[in-house]
Amino acid sequence: MSEAFDLVVIGGGSGGLAAAQRAAGYGARVALVEQARLGGTCVNVGCVPKKVMWNAASLAHAVEDARDYGFRIAVDGSHDWATLKARRDAYLQRLNDIYARNLEAKRIHLVRGPARFLGPRTVAAGGEVLEARHVVIATGGYPAVPRLPGAELGITSDGFFELAQCPARTAIVGSGYIAVELAGMLAALGSQVTFFARHDSVLRRFDEMLQQAAVESLAQAGVTLRWRSVVAAVERGAGGLQLRLRDGVVQGPFDTLIWAVGREPATATLGLEAAGIEPDAGGFVPTDRFQETRVQQVYAIGDVTGREPLTPVAIAAGRRLADRVFGHMAGRHLDYANIATVVFTHPPLGTCGLAESQARQVHGEAVRVYRSEFVPLYHAVTTAKPKARIKLITAGAEERVVGCHVAGPGADELLQGFAVAIRMGATKRDFDDTVAIHPTLAEELVTLR
Ligand code: FAD
Ligand code: NDP
Repeated sequence: MSEAFDLVVIGGGSGGLAAAQRAAGYGARVALVEQARLGGTCVNVGCVPKKVMWNAASLAHAVEDARDYGFRIAVDGSHDWATLKARRDAYLQRLNDIYARNLEAKRIHLVRGPARFLGPRTVAAGGEVLEARHVVIATGGYPAVPRLPGAELGITSDGFFELAQCPARTAIVGSGYIAVELAGMLAALGSQVTFFARHDSVLRRFDEMLQQAAVESLAQAGVTLRWRSVVAAVERGAGGLQLRLRDGVVQGPFDTLIWAVGREPATATLGLEAAGIEPDAGGFVPTDRFQETRVQQVYAIGDVTGREPLTPVAIAAGRRLADRVFGHMAGRHLDYANIATVVFTHPPLGTCGLAESQARQVHGEAVRVYRSEFVPLYHAVTTAKPKARIKLITAGAEERVVGCHVAGPGADELLQGFAVAIRMGATKRDFDDTVAIHPTLAEELVTLR
């Protein structure tokens, strides 16, 4: 069967759903192809279940703090992972169902199965051939696994969400968002975590202050940090998994090994060559600022483009694209500058704009840095004394804020508002002229000297 649409979207994750629904809202006839569960990475094996696990870890920390706040915690504080998983999975199922109902309500034709290009704007999926005036590639990606002997003995973030219980001993390899977040959560929920990083820091693209905060938070959570440790092979021994490092040292045994070494784009089986699209060396689909590929009326959004792989970025790119193509908003596109992001450690790390080293590269001598480091009021009475850290980076005589970095309780929630100010071009003077809210952590950002 062959059917014609205004728009065919390949991938029902954050970006694909956003583009399809916005276009349908403008009256476009839309088909969406999804090979797995609606919602994609974020809803099923990413942000949403991750945040539930982070909340659980936050409660584990709160139970400890509650004792210092005078609560007589009667129970032993142990955690029932299976109960949490069942509730988390039930919530995700509800979300999957809501997405399906939303598509139905917007009369979006949902095709289940892997999509493959037959021509630039012809897509085969689920036994159908879909012809379209416009096609959006929104296929996201999947976790990378290094090519080395025994790598298959490890799991990835996808497997983490399938774990039926908390592993007693976990090895985590990697040093980005996922490695740091999962290490903190597992440690808080009772796993003995060993962290293997190739270099001597984590989150190396972040401001140095945030790297330091992340390392400190892992150490305080009891994570064993192994720097300059490159895994060469994995073996299963009698007591569990053993990691053979490149320098010959053997580490282990572990019950679970998690690879957290980045993600790869889902383009290998898409038949891009039939569409006339050539992926870049990493397999990503190159696009211009309007999300256009080299083929007319074929676009790509989200993780598959290799740019800022974050859910709100995929959603924003999808919506702006639909606004432009179907909503007659000429020139509308996503500005990738100053996108705020948070790493969900304990405490969380928030960042917007340039790291100090980047700011110095871009603005040289014109950079000024304001920073503050303190134990937040919440921890005045607790045994644990994690530090909060704040850094504001300005450039030029007018001291425009070009970087804002916060590690501390509430950093995840407070940063969004500051991101608005930075996007609007706020200066240090604007920050200083804003009256503080007391007593909060956020007030430190408007009282820096
Ligand atoms: P995806 O959400 O990956 O969706 C792509 C969809 O396309 C999938 O459903 C896939 O099944 C489908 N598909 C692929 N190939 C085909 C095909 N050939 N035919 C049909 N369908 C196909 N981001 C944040 O902003 N905040 C967070 O806290 C956060 N936490 C994360 C935690 C983890 C563990 C991970 C892995 C990611 C996290 N992210 C987070 C990143 C976020 O999940 C992604 O940036 C986002 O999901 C990208 O959306 P997307 O639409 O580009 O791709
Ligand atoms: P990241 O890109 O954040 O980090 C992966 C890191 O792993 C690399 O930077 C590298 O760090 C290290 N690495 C790469 N290859 C190897 C290897 N062979 N052995 C050891 N270490 C290796 O990827 P993630 O998979 O953690 O996350 C993917 C993306 O998903 C993120 O970039 C982010 O955009 C998104 N995400 C967002 C979250 C949020 O918003 N809170 C949470 C989770 C994911 P180095 O060079 O230092 O060794």
